[in-house]
Amino acid sequence: MRKPIIAGNWKMFKTRDEAIDFMYKVSESMPDIKDVDTVICAQAPMMRCLIKRQGDNLRIGAQNLHYEDEGAFTGEISGKLLNSYKVDYVIIGHSERRQYFKETDEMVNLKIKAALRNDLIPIVCVGEHLTERENNQTNQVLTKQVKGAFQGISALDMERIVIAYEPIWAIGTGKTATAEQADESCGYIRELVRELYGSIVADATRIQYGGSVKPENIDELLAKENIDGALIGGASLDAEKFIYMAKAALKK
Ligand code: 13P
Repeated sequence: MRKPIIAGNWKMFKTRDEAIDFMYKVSESMPDIKDVDTVICAQAPMMRCLIKRQGDNLRIGAQNLHYEDEGAFTGEISGKLLNSYKVDYVIIGHSERRQYFKETDEMVNLKIKAALRNDLIPIVCVGEHLTERENNQTNQVLTKQVKGAFQGISALDMERIVIAYEPIWAIGTGKTATAEQADESCGYIRELVRELYGSIVADATRIQYGGSVKPENIDELLAKENIDGALIGGASLDAEKFIYMAKAALKK
């Protein structure tokens, strides 16, 4: 049994007051959603005020970290610092970081290791561009990203990692992959994990879908066998929508 996980990726949105308002609105509903892990991944300076307001099943995550634990890397955030603030999760390899900040599979791999040694749960993003899907290269891209990301990661560590399948063409575009497409790619990723780590780990690994997830389509996505949750951008900014989507995962 894989526990569903609904994560909001707030990207570079919300001020401190807006974030506090969100936590205030969702906190009442959270005890009803205890069979689902819920996470908000916010901008770093907001984290402290969010952590103060988190609950047992609403946890806080970062959106990035550096692969070194300390050093002269102006503007970067270390896993060591995140750990000291008791942050639980960190998104790694989001397509926006790969595209705008030139993150490679090698960097993603180093960042996963940095997260694990600092006791953070990595949410590792993989996914293809539209042209790659159109050219039937989706599986090839996923194979390269998954194998690159998990190089040298032990089976024990792998059991803690969450994978998010986010087709780039579905992010922020309003275009969702069909539930069948999303399930097929999440299933393919699970087979890659099986190849690398065997069935026990593959069957325990949580794989989310991300890309224009909203209250209108979450039920259909979560009904699929290989989709264990969602990584949600735009729709996660709205407290009512976030609660709705977290509750939808109770049906899994
Ligand atoms: P949207 O839900 O806004 O498409 O964003 C998806 C995403 O990038 C989550 O990490």
